[in-house]
Amino acid sequence: MAALKPYSSLTDYQRFANEVYGASNRRHFTVDEMLTNIVRFAMRGLKGIRKGDSEKVRTNMTIALSWTMSLLNQLDLTIEQHVWERFPYVCSYCGSCPCACKAKKVKKRVIVKVNPRLRPRTLHDLQVMFNEIYPASTRTLEHAGIHLAEEVGEFSEAVMAFRGNHTESEFDNVILEASDLFSCFMGVFNSLEVDYEKTLVASFKNGCHACKHTPCICEYNYVVNFKS
Ligand SMILES: [Zn+2]
Ligand SMILES: [Zn+2]
Repeated sequence: MAALKPYSSLTDYQRFANEVYGASNRRHFTVDEMLTNIVRFAMRGLKGIRKGDSEKVRTNMTIALSWTMSLLNQLDLTIEQHVWERFPYVCSYCGSCPCACKAKKVKKRVIVKVNPRLRPRTLHDLQVMFNEIYPASTRTLEHAGIHLAEEVGEFSEAVMAFRGNHTESEFDNVILEASDLFSCFMGVFNSLEVDYEKTLVASFKNGCHACKHTPCICEYNYVVNFKS
């Protein structure tokens, strides 16, 4: 029985998602359908923001990010190293922590020096890092939600472009957009003041959060009609 333990890294979580959901996903869902599920649950999360229902936001954003991990697994793409290269404890654009894009009116992406000693190891520390780069105090939850929606769109475009032409440069773009999307999920959880690692550990003590099996044996109809 796979279980997600405290102090798990992002890669641990991706492996866990593969062990529990990989077989069922490969059998039942194409990459495009997985993309639809990311959109579907992220939009439910946005509805939660509009309604002021933070539990709805937390649940649906967690599911949307879980689908994102599953899609990356389907593409055989482990994202943690790329997230770190894109966000090495500084903003990927202005190179500062906290981000100073607005104050410095940065117009061109700077080249960033990476200090490997700062690299977060756990999901919790990764979330903390994103709050230091992009402090929740500098934006509203609505703002974080809109930014996430933008990045869901950009990630979708990148995946569709790659699936159309299958070039290396388009795959590199999928990597960049997946990293940006991950940072926006962290932004929403930081604005919500939700500890993402704790949420995952509580949901995934015994394999699938719904059927409690490894691998998941939830029926297709249950998955596609899931209420949240
Ligand atoms: Zn910045
Ligand atoms: Zn299940």
